[in-house]
Amino acid sequence: MARVVVVGAGLGGLATAARLAAAGHAVTVLEQAAGIGGKLGRLDVDGHSFDTGPSLVTLPQVLRDLFAATGARLEDSVDLVRLDPAVAYRFADGTRLSVPGRAEEVPRALDEALGDGAGRQWDALMERAAAMWRISEGPFLRSPLAGAATLARLARRPSDVATVAPWQSLRGLGRQHLRHPHLRTLLDRYATYSGSDPRRAPAVLATVPYAEQAFGSWYVRGGLHELARAVLDRAVAHGAVPRTGCAVDRMLVEGGRASGVQLADGERVPADVVVSGVDAAALHGRLLPDDRRTRGVRRDLGRATPSLSGVVLMLALRGRTPGLAHHTVLFPDDYDAEFDAVFGVGRHAGRPVPVADPTVYVSAPADPALVPDEDSESWFVLVNAPRHDPEGGVDWDSPGLADRYADEVLGVMARRGLDVRQRIRRRVVRTPADLERDTGSVGGSIYGSSSNGSRAAFLRPSNASPVPGLFLVGGSAHPGGGLPLVTLSAEIVAGLVGPP
Ligand SMILES: Cc1cc2nc3c(=O)[nH]c(=O)nc-3n(C[C@H](O)[C@H](O)[C@H](O)COP(=O)(O)OP(=O)(O)OC[C@H]3O[C@@H](n4cnc5c(N)ncnc54)[C@H](O)[C@@H]3O)c2cc1C
Repeated sequence: MARVVVVGAGLGGLATAARLAAAGHAVTVLEQAAGIGGKLGRLDVDGHSFDTGPSLVTLPQVLRDLFAATGARLEDSVDLVRLDPAVAYRFADGTRLSVPGRAEEVPRALDEALGDGAGRQWDALMERAAAMWRISEGPFLRSPLAGAATLARLARRPSDVATVAPWQSLRGLGRQHLRHPHLRTLLDRYATYSGSDPRRAPAVLATVPYAEQAFGSWYVRGGLHELARAVLDRAVAHGAVPRTGCAVDRMLVEGGRASGVQLADGERVPADVVVSGVDAAALHGRLLPDDRRTRGVRRDLGRATPSLSGVVLMLALRGRTPGLAHHTVLFPDDYDAEFDAVFGVGRHAGRPVPVADPTVYVSAPADPALVPDEDSESWFVLVNAPRHDPEGGVDWDSPGLADRYADEVLGVMARRGLDVRQRIRRRVVRTPADLERDTGSVGGSIYGSSSNGSRAAFLRPSNASPVPGLFLVGGSAHPGGGLPLVTLSAEIVAGLVGPP
């Protein structure tokens, strides 16, 4: 039995803790915040409850595997609900498209909303994406990153390379398969699931809509934060000890290997194995002593484009909105302007700015557990935003900026048909600076490094640190961000640590 310290009680840390505790290790989880969940957090105000981060669960099989590895059934641990429709899109020209929750129904819905041929085009794209999924799932998503060996596994057959087309962008793939501009916009949006720009993200991200449609879009009744609680329960059931309010100040390295951690109050917690669920840039920038072995990791992190961040409005609303879907997306006229603003490229070269006319994502679960009474709604509203960067970018702590920008977002929503300004009982705004403070992710990047650029997947740190005994889990490490990949990273780390 090894003494394992897991730093961070986000989903990555919790899932690793649950797996390792179930395998028989002695696990302690150290979390800086007062509660668990990290980005998968929860906020309660005036009888309204909100998920502060994720609102969509995809690839439930990955979660099933996690719970099974700890001796439980996912379905007995959380109340998973399959969403249908999956998402309602509204385009700037007034077109509305409700995407069904079952893959086989999607083409007809596309034909009805966008005209004949749209369904066939999307179908052809999804066929290609299914092939990409088959090629990349095992060798990449479910395996440790191993540099050239990973590339060799992916490129075993020339036809696989042609299918994945590592040289092609997601935007390029959309142009190749999709004629309707709204379909292209729809595909582009999936780049943002990894915090990226569709013009630079690789075509293989078409696997994201494929996985979403093939395996469904899901909600957890009571809010997605229940998932974090349920995973914590699995860890505790196997003897893991969670300690909240414990900020780790330093990773300890002795005799060339990880030997524990030091807390902000000076306490030292010794360990045979340390698993860091902390943002990789924060780990390498602040917590880990400068070690020549990790220089390559630091260099790669410096080469990668950090993922985008977001501004979140949590709206406690009076009254109900007739016909509102669980997830609604309001697209702007000019999607590229959003990516230019967020990443400081194109017409905003070198100068990221808050998006003037952003895509607005509204998650409004019809869940009685989240509202004080039947005549109320709890809305989670998210727009993409540049990271918090007081030195060269947007200083989200500038006086008044958060509230001014929230007003603008509400104005945008009103212009696009969702005017709730007179119904707001209470609103809470969280900027990228808040996300950085609350979860320790540098600049408030939601997904660690973005997938911008064909090499981006290989610039993310691998799960085994060059420092023996130290492992990296979570959205900023391999295989990337988002709940399913974070859960897979925990599976990979547990496999690397091995049995007691
Ligand atoms: C607004 C938003 C919307 C999102 N929407 C979705 C979605 O719909 N679907 C989806 O799949 N994903 C979504 N995501 C992404 C998803 O939330 C993340 O990929 C995932 O939750 C990250 O988990 P993690 O464990 O890697 O990191 P985190 O959740 O960030 O956990 C890291 C933990 O480490 C702690 N920590 C940091 N530093 C220290 C320290 N020094 N000492 C001790 N503890 C420390 C932090 O407090 C935190 O609890 C969203 C994220 C955000 C922010």
